[in-house]
Amino acid sequence: MTKAANLGFPRIGAKRELKQATEAYWKGAIDAPALLAAGAALRARHWQLQKEAGIDVIPSNDFSFYDQMLDMTATVGAIPPRFLADADAKPTHPNGSARGAMEAAANGQGNPALDLYFAMARGSKAAPAMEMTKWFDTNYHYIVPEFYKGQAFKLSSRKAIDEFKEAKALGIHTRPVLIGPVTYLVLSKAKSEGLDPLSLLDTLLPVYAELLAELKTAGADWVQMDEPILALDLTQPQRRALRLAYKHLAPHAPKIMVASYFGTYGDNLSVAADLPVQGHHVDAVRGWAEVDKVLSALPAERTLSLGVVDGRNVWRTNLWGAFEIIERAMKARGGDNLQIAPSCSLIHAPVDLDNETKLDPELKSWMAFAKQKLHEVAALAVAASKGQAAVGTAFEASDKAARAREASPRIHNPEVAARIEHVTEQDLTRRSSFQARRAKQRAAFGLPAFPTTTIGSFPQTEAVRKARAAHKRGEMSDAAYGEFLREETEKAVRIQEELDIDVLVHGEFERNDMVEYFGEQLSGFAFTQNGWVQSYGSRYVKPPVIFGDVSRPKPMTVEWSSYAQSLTKRPMKGMLTGPVTILQWSFVRDDQPRSVTCQQIALAIRDEVLDLEKAGIRLIQIDEPALREGLPLRAAEHEAYLKWAVDCFRLAAAGVADATQIHTHMCYCEFNDIMPSIAALDADVISIETSRSDMELLESFSDFKYPNEIGPGVYDIHSPRCPGAQDMTALLKKAKERLAPDQIWVNPDCGLKTRRWEEVKPALENMVAAAKAMRGRA
Ligand code: GLN
Ligand code: ZN
Repeated sequence: MTKAANLGFPRIGAKRELKQATEAYWKGAIDAPALLAAGAALRARHWQLQKEAGIDVIPSNDFSFYDQMLDMTATVGAIPPRFLADADAKPTHPNGSARGAMEAAANGQGNPALDLYFAMARGSKAAPAMEMTKWFDTNYHYIVPEFYKGQAFKLSSRKAIDEFKEAKALGIHTRPVLIGPVTYLVLSKAKSEGLDPLSLLDTLLPVYAELLAELKTAGADWVQMDEPILALDLTQPQRRALRLAYKHLAPHAPKIMVASYFGTYGDNLSVAADLPVQGHHVDAVRGWAEVDKVLSALPAERTLSLGVVDGRNVWRTNLWGAFEIIERAMKARGGDNLQIAPSCSLIHAPVDLDNETKLDPELKSWMAFAKQKLHEVAALAVAASKGQAAVGTAFEASDKAARAREASPRIHNPEVAARIEHVTEQDLTRRSSFQARRAKQRAAFGLPAFPTTTIGSFPQTEAVRKARAAHKRGEMSDAAYGEFLREETEKAVRIQEELDIDVLVHGEFERNDMVEYFGEQLSGFAFTQNGWVQSYGSRYVKPPVIFGDVSRPKPMTVEWSSYAQSLTKRPMKGMLTGPVTILQWSFVRDDQPRSVTCQQIALAIRDEVLDLEKAGIRLIQIDEPALREGLPLRAAEHEAYLKWAVDCFRLAAAGVADATQIHTHMCYCEFNDIMPSIAALDADVISIETSRSDMELLESFSDFKYPNEIGPGVYDIHSPRCPGAQDMTALLKKAKERLAPDQIWVNPDCGLKTRRWEEVKPALENMVAAAKAMRGRA
């Protein structure tokens, strides 16, 4: 019998119940037992839902109050010392510090383990939060484990065992999910000089062995060990660690299903096949081309979990296409040791399409969220066991939807296709070299040395958010809302003039989100009501859905930028989101290459750029904060991606006259390895976030001899502390050591929308003072 399996279900709840509960707990509005009960209710509901969907292999321990990597850190007891040492802190709130949490618990107010856990994720009064970073190439962020010299591990949380038993008590036999030890170590960070996290494997394995043995005792017959690093380029020591780890763990453990996802096994296939485990999961969506190789590489007695339903998007699976892969597997290995599964955990998909009551029915008929994807998995498993006829209606419906989608005029826009076909190298190239453009721009703007500007957004105050919500609910008229936004914009312009900033921005008050704002105005985009996915902790995002050819029916930002420019004599910077970032932060159609969809967006942005220029906006910023994160997981694929991503930016930007200055902005990413591509964007000015690294980041720009102008962020917008003028002058001096003085702009790290005006004003005042001090010196 072929089984239907799942690797993980979204824990956030169809109505974002987990967010409500955790945030209420953080505010002190509910107590720990209430939060724990909310978690248990979600788990029970999700197990039941999976059972009802026909899933045979249901995961447990895929639930988390914050993050599965942090759960693993809590499980192996790798609590960074600073969270245990802040005993003298005087917390004002139960989760203010570890000791505070303990005290609160003693007073019956809190749950120490839980509060310590949240302190690690979010920081406490005395200890800054652990770092967070992107989970592979997803938009999910995990808490990075930290290790120190002499690091010890100890089984410190029984969550995996408790949740297995909890499900069992509800009559559901689950397969517990753990982050595998090697992925856990590879994704961690050593905080002591000279420490290699992999060297901790020997110390770590006994804790894993203890946990696995306990799971076995509790009745688990299988565990799922997630080792998604198998989809990365691995070093020899990493491969050796995998072999060592599973050799050590297998004797103590229930049967082990090693799960790799987000890509192919590639040259790691033999490493995986040699592990002494009983099952392997393969991502047959991204790895469809290697399925035959996987089939022949795996010993016949192993269980193969075939991930044929895409866990990373919102599209319905073409069951016929998926079944074709399953048939190949059955032919090669028979149907008995076979499981049908999503390609990866479903936490990267929204929860339930049934809750989308406003989505237009045609689009909805093409889509599937986590719950619907499980029905697809189940139907495929039944088809494998009993033949398609047993689930004939599911196959027919899928086929009908696939054909309707393919033929729908809403997807294809011949004009867009024709434009793409006629794009030439010339369209991607500015008319003159940077040097020639620079001379014209200098003459046109007459800016001082070390010109000051900001990244775009100004505080989205309570008033701004309230007005937007009221307008959205229909309680505020278009006219009243427009008037309100104009007033906010004017206020922002006046403040910038008073601060004596050189290049102004309009403030982005009319924007909810830098991608959604454009998606709402472009054709080919749809929006869901509840299509939330977890980004980190209690932060969820609701990405737009790109379903069809993208085009721009009319100008999107010209009115706001022109209005703002009309208020001032100083240059006003137009503000756009770049094509790669729009692509990266959306659910993208799966029926054409991402590069083509990106080109379409680029053409729409290009039209906007040219309309802004026509309207007299002479500086235009095209933000690409997500350019780096689109980088494929395997080095062999980097070049191709960077080529089309850079070309898309250039297609958006290059249509303007020499005297029009193109800015771009990037933040919170590693720049070093993509310097040539950043230079190839050929933006006249790039602003980047650097204050975190104390200008060290600039090394890559100076080593590379980056030719164009740069605004290294001099002020960390996440810090509640107001940076002093001297701090910023010091940073600028450091920048001057690495860059030519006439290359340097002065700006904050990123947009200021999350700050308050009371914080922003003095900080910018100091920033301008720092720039002026540099001019005196320059
Ligand atoms: N222009 C945007 C802003 O200021 C840029 C945001 C970003 O880099 N993520 O908000
Ligand atoms: Zn930014």
